[in-house]
Order: sequence, then structure tokens, then C-alpha cells
Amino acid sequence: MARIKGLKCKECGELYPLGPIHVCEYCFGPLEVDYNYAEIKNLISREKIAGGPSSIWRYRDLLPVERGEDDSVKVGFTPLQRADNLARALGLRELYVKNDSVNPTYSFKDRVVAVALAKAKEFGFDTIACASTGNLASAVAAAGAKAGLKTYVFLPADVEKSKIVNAAIYGATLVAVDGTYDELNRLCSEVADRFHWAFFNINIRPYYAEGSKTLAFEVVEQLQWQAPDHVVVPIASGSLLTKVAKGLRELQQVGLIANYQTRISGAQAAGCGPVAEAFATGAEIIHPVRKPQTIAKSLAIGNPADGLYALEIVRQSGGSIEGVTEEEIIEGIKLLARTEGIFTETAGGVTIGALKRLVEKGKIAPDERTIAYITGNGLKTPEAVVDHIAAPLLVKPTVESFDEIVGKQALAV
Ligand SMILES: [Zn+2]
Repeated sequence: MARIKGLKCKECGELYPLGPIHVCEYCFGPLEVDYNYAEIKNLISREKIAGGPSSIWRYRDLLPVERGEDDSVKVGFTPLQRADNLARALGLRELYVKNDSVNPTYSFKDRVVAVALAKAKEFGFDTIACASTGNLASAVAAAGAKAGLKTYVFLPADVEKSKIVNAAIYGATLVAVDGTYDELNRLCSEVADRFHWAFFNINIRPYYAEGSKTLAFEVVEQLQWQAPDHVVVPIASGSLLTKVAKGLRELQQVGLIANYQTRISGAQAAGCGPVAEAFATGAEIIHPVRKPQTIAKSLAIGNPADGLYALEIVRQSGGSIEGVTEEEIIEGIKLLARTEGIFTETAGGVTIGALKRLVEKGKIAPDERTIAYITGNGLKTPEAVVDHIAAPLLVKPTVESFDEIVGKQALAV
């Protein structure tokens, strides 16, 4: 029997054959890849995974691809860094940072793009495209360059300049849209209908989103096949959080781990925190944020497509969602850098800010084995912190000047 059965509507359960579609014709629910886990259980083993490539493709049996993956670009299998300094600062016993800022284009988006690209090639597309808040733009542009495909990238016009450079350098056509991410996403849906393009986060979304599961697979394998007690995941569309949950569930379904009880918590910026808001008020619906106001632009999705699913998972798992202030985001970036030597972008600042709050509020117990997902690199958005760091000590090129300005300070410590 086939490893992949087809696509299935997440809402009504309607089945569809595999294809570049993402919405149910009957109820407009999102489509998801439908696997045959009994079959995968026969194919997969810890040993087989350990003998696989040092990339997301070691989990190929649980990914929706048949061929077309290019493993010459090593995506995923990023370090799980034990973070004892940060743990001490926060009052935790066992904390790890899943450092996804060291992927080929410096964010976790390389994972979803690798899966989407393989699928787009299988479907025979010659043009790929995406709607991006920044990180996806560079991941798609780089992947398109490597694969030799025509590439269109849509970004909000007010995105950080460095994110534009990070995408433009690969030769993709960049379209800057004068509007919010939600407005540009609507535009892209219309464009996707009119052109025969593989829009990674629109018509290829059911496959694309599956790439995020590898962030759960890797953490469990890196913990010697044990599920963590608590994970903290940033929320933009909510897809990443739902897929981390799905990844854990699948490992159990195919017999790679036993029963587990991982609590899943989410992190948003208060300036664009519709899911955090719904969690705090106990709401059953998510009120979209029309005008996001936060430096965490990569998380600034006012109307998150998977927000409700993320909310449900967090509630069911016994986790929590925090909406952190702009000051907490900056402080989170600086804290991670000072304690663990990792420079993350604003989304990582949101995650660390939320982690800190969760510990302070007692929502993460000191003895819980906890994972903080760091999804992007600080070198992408240095402007976010440039006004919040100490200026260098300026000296003349003489020993006297050095003694006067640096020496005195060194002795005083
Ligand atoms: Zn449906």
C-alpha cells in the first residue's frame, strides 16, 4: 500500500488526490497530507534514520515527497544546544535551544522550502513563488536559484532593508507590496489562481507546511529518542506550532517513541498577538489584528491561517501563550546572545521573552526539560538592536590612551 494516501480536509475529512491544491471544495477547510502510518511503521526505524543524511531528508519516510529532493544543500539537522547559562539565568534545570538560525539561509524556512521545492518539481512547475514576511523570501529565492527555476517573491514594502538584500541577492524577482502581510497574502492568492506558479505557501501549502515537522523529529532524536517536557514555539501563521505537535504525534504513531506528554507553549509579540490575546481571554475565535505594530516583522501576521489550530493544541497540551512587549523582545535577543552566544532575530527575541515570562509565572516548572525554538538569525535584522547595544570604547592608537580609557575600566572590574 502507498505511504501517502492523498490529501484530506482538516475540517470535513473529504479526500483528494495529491495535487497543487490547498482548500477543500466543500467547506473551504485547509487540506493536509494523509499518510498511511501502518505502512510507514514498517519502513521506518531509529537505525534507518541514524544512517540517513545529515539533513531533513533523514526523515523522508514521514515527508510528502516521492523524488526531486536535492540534498546537496544541507537543510536542517541543526544543533540542539544545551543552554546551561540561560537556564541558570531563568531558573531552569535543563534547557536546550534548537538553533535553526544556522540553516543555509539562516532561518527554519529552509525546511519548508526544501519540501515545497521537491514537490513543485514533482508537479512539473517551472516557476516558484511565495508571500513572505522576510525569511521565506530568502529561502525561496536561494532554492529557486539552486534549482534553476523562475522565482517570484512577494514582500511587504516596509520589511527590513536587510531582508530585501537577503532575497534580492539570489536573483529572484522581488515584488514589494504597499500593504500589510495579510493584504499581500490575499493578492498572492489571486495571482496564484491566474498564473500556473507553485506558490509555496498557497497552492503548495499542504506539502510545504510538512517541512516544519522535522523540527520536532530532530529534537526527539537529539534527546536520544525522548520527547521533551515543554517546548516554546513562536507563532506567526501558527503553522510551525501545529506541525511541531504533529511531528511528535507521528513519532508515536509509527512507534519511534512511547507515550509522551509534551506541553506546547506559544510566543507572540503583543504588537501583533491575536493568538496570545485569544488564549488570555479564553476566546474561541481569533480577532485579526489589522495593523501589526512590532519590530518582530517575521511574526507580524494579523490574521493567522492556523491560529485556531495552534490555540487548540496549546490548550489541550497544557501549555500557554505569551504576548511579549517590544522591550522584552530586545531584552530576549540580548539575553540569548549574552548567555549562549547565539544572535537571533526579533522572532527569537519573542521566544526568549515568552520563555522568561512562562518561567516567572510558574507555567514552566524548574525541572521540566524545555526546548526553545530559535527560528532565525540576528544578522538578518541588525537594525532591530543597533540602538540598544553598548558603543565600542574609542581610543587613540597609543598605550596611554588605551590605559586611560580601557585599562582603568578593566582594573575597576
Ligand atoms: Zn472540507
